[in-house]
Formats: sequence, structure tokens, C-alpha cells
Amino acid sequence: MGHTTDVLVIGGGPAGLAAAIAARRKGISVTVADGARPPIDKACGEGLLPGTLAALRELGISISSNDGQVFRRIRFIDGGISAEAQFPGESSIGVRRTVLHRKMVERAEESGVELLWNSPVTGISRRCAIVGGKAIPTKWVVGADGVHSRGRRWSGLDSGVHCEVRFAQRRHYRARLLTDCVEVYWGRKIQAYVTPLANEETCVVLISRDPAMRFEEALREFPGLAASLSNAKLSSVQRGTVTATCKLDRVYRGNVALIGDASGSVDAITGEGLELGFRQALVLAGALETGELEKYQAAHRKLARRPQAMARLLLLLDRFAPLRKRVLQGLARDPDLFTRLLAAHVKETSSAFLAETIAYLGWRLITG
Ligand SMILES: Cc1cc2nc3c(=O)[nH]c(=O)nc-3n(C[C@H](O)[C@H](O)[C@H](O)COP(=O)(O)OP(=O)(O)OC[C@H]3O[C@@H](n4cnc5c(N)ncnc54)[C@H](O)[C@@H]3O)c2cc1C
Repeated sequence: MGHTTDVLVIGGGPAGLAAAIAARRKGISVTVADGARPPIDKACGEGLLPGTLAALRELGISISSNDGQVFRRIRFIDGGISAEAQFPGESSIGVRRTVLHRKMVERAEESGVELLWNSPVTGISRRCAIVGGKAIPTKWVVGADGVHSRGRRWSGLDSGVHCEVRFAQRRHYRARLLTDCVEVYWGRKIQAYVTPLANEETCVVLISRDPAMRFEEALREFPGLAASLSNAKLSSVQRGTVTATCKLDRVYRGNVALIGDASGSVDAITGEGLELGFRQALVLAGALETGELEKYQAAHRKLARRPQAMARLLLLLDRFAPLRKRVLQGLARDPDLFTRLLAAHVKETSSAFLAETIAYLGWRLITG
């Protein structure tokens, strides 16, 4: 008898592996098919915030200081303005994407997930998926194939996509620029996102609305950063990608459910994409077990609300430089307000707390 499975996951990135691990814990048989081979690299800021680390633990994956560089603070820099705050509660860790992927693959193997690498999915129908040219019968299909998801298109869930897209380039430098801090720089048209990693290594991501952005040229917008990198060697190949703030009207249809960036995403600058995918995975497993995907839809909407609000706020600051400079000056003068904003961003706080914090920020801008 050929290969059959309860759940066929398209894509073995972080969200697909998380979905597979969570479903196996419910006793569901799962096959993951990915067109690439592990460990899969991807342009990413590589910051695992406290909520991301907690979600990984719920999936049975422990990331420790041995896997990367612990950081507790974030610094926003725009020209001469610099504002800094400490993350509330647990620390965050900067971890190479390939290290995270390797750990997730190990956990999936231990959990009994069937992993098919070098196996692109080229189509789905009601009862099967075409993997590497062969049909695999399956009860459910989970589309975890990233921001350009074909699974989303095949299942007809593409029609309600609303997106704001930016373009990103990532490099790793063999240099220790930062210890316990991540930095976000704003320039005229470029943003830089700097994360410390293990082994004297630093991840630098440049993000722009211009698809033709060139790394070297763009880096010159940040003379201090460019100077500290001028003698550092590259320690990986440069990678580019898009980062999108995307919302879908629906994340499931029939026996197909979408997860991770395929199901809508938040801009890279929030540093929350991974946690969102992991939290969705934990909820999706329960919905697959009972067959109630409408519950997944409702939980998915709720999970996305806070990160989407923060993404909109950060993109507003990116678009309007005078507003951004005033906000950064306000945060530099009032570190408690910055800490409160961070708490609203990374911690389980109520929407009332977030609304109050934004209102307080607005008031400080008017009175500052
Ligand atoms: C520049 C940038 C910086 C970021 N920084 C951070 C950060 O610091 N912290 C954070 O938490 N998040 C960050 N994010 C977000 C995070 O990287 C994403 O949310 C996360 O990668 C989404 O995971 P995913 O599994 O949904 O998709 P992906 O990681 O894109 O994985 C999709 C997988 O599907 C496979 N695939 C695609 N099509 C097929 C097919 N037809 N058949 C089989 N396989 C297929 C691909 O090979 C890939 O392995 C950042 C994003 C960007 C763009």
C-alpha cells in the first residue's frame, strides 16, 4: 500500500514544522513535504523574543544561551536620536536561522513526523496532494509554504489578501557589534535591523520599499554602522526576500488550512512572525483533532490582532519621518513609556493596555 497520511503539510519551515509537531502530539499522523533540504536558511532578523521562546518550549523545543546570544534591550536610532528600553521579563536570544531549523527538524523526527525533503508540492485536490510527482492521499492539507504560498492560491484563499510589502536583504558579519541589545536604525528610505548572534557573529537586515535596494549603497545611510562593519568579513551568503504585512479574510477552506506567513504575516520589524506561526500551530492541532477548523479561524484572527496593530504603528513611523523623530525623542526622554510600549508589544497584555499606551504616547507627543 502507498504512502497515506492524516495531515500533509506543504512547507517544512518553522510554521510547517511547528504544525506537524503539535499535530503529532494529538496522535495525528503527519507528513511534511518541502522543496528544499535542511537546515533551511532564510533572510530573517533572527531575534527570538520571550514569547517566541515560550511557544517553542510548548512545542518541546528548548533554545538556550548556547544556541545564540542573549539580549535584554532594544535601541531605536534615527540620526542623532537614540532611545533605549529593556524587554520586560525573560530575555530574548539571537539565533541563526539554520540553528533554529535544525532543532525544529530534530524535534519533528523525535515526534514521529514523516519528513520529505527535496519534495516540492505541485498541486492539491480534495483527497490528495501531489508531492515530487506522486499523489499522497490525505485527510487534511496544511499550507505552510510562506509568504508567496501556492497552497493559498490552490485553495482559493488568495482572493481576500490585503498586503503592504517591503524588500529585505540579510547579511551575516564575522564581528561582535552588540552584546545584550538589538538595534533598529531608521534612515531616509532604509531601515536597518541588527541582531547579535553566537560566535562573534552579527546579523544585519536592511529593509526598504524600493525593490532595487543595493546593500552596500543602502548601508551608507548609517555611517556609524557602516564604519563598524567596514573591516568585518561576511560569514554567509547574502539573502533577499520580501516582508509583508498581510491579512486574509479566511485561513481555511474545506480540508485546507493555512498557517505561518502563508496565512497572513506581520512586517519583519515587529520580530513576531515566528511566535505567531508557533501559536497558530498549537491551536490548529486542536482544531484538526476535532475537525472544527472554524475555531482555528477565530483563534487565528485573535492571535494576529496585537502584532498587526504594532506592525501598523511601526510602518506609520517608517513612512512619516517627522512623526518618527518626535516619537523617538519622546521615547528617549521617557524610557518608562518605551518600556510600557515594549510590554504591550511582547507580553500578553490586554487590548485596553495597548490602547492606553498608544493614547499616552499621543498625549506625550502633543504636550512634549
Ligand atoms: C527580513 C525578515 C526579518 C525577520 N525577522 C524576524 C525576527 O527577527 N523574528 C521573528 O520572529 N520573525 C522574523 N521574521 C518573520 C519570520 O521569518 C517568518 O514569519 C517565518 O519565516 C515564517 O515561517 P513560515 O514557516 O511560515 O514560512 P517560511 O519560513 O517562508 O517557510 C516556508 C517553507 O515552505 C517551503 N515551500 C514553499 N513552497 C513549497 C512547495 N510548493 N512545496 C514544498 N515546500 C514549499 C519553502 O522551501 C520553505 O521552507 C522576519 C522576516 C523577514 C522577511
